[in-house]
Amino acid sequence: MLEKRGELYCCPNCAEIATSGGGRTAAEKCAHCGNPIVDPSTHMTQGDATYCCNNCAIAAGATTPTSP
Ligand SMILES: [Zn+2]
Ligand SMILES: [Zn+2]
Repeated sequence: MLEKRGELYCCPNCAEIATSGGGRTAAEKCAHCGNPIVDPSTHMTQGDATYCCNNCAIAAGATTPTSP
């Protein structure tokens, strides 16, 4: 999670989407929040689902948190 301009985002990818004024498209979208995957640094896949970050994968129940 990170904070940008007083807003909280689950990952740099989602911050990029929110602060770039929209119109960002990508071949893949997060299976949880639906944001296009524009920042590959946090992107991850679980089975055939793609998530923008580990947070979304956890939120979607695709994986379990490493710490409670
Ligand atoms: Zn995200
Ligand atoms: Zn997401």
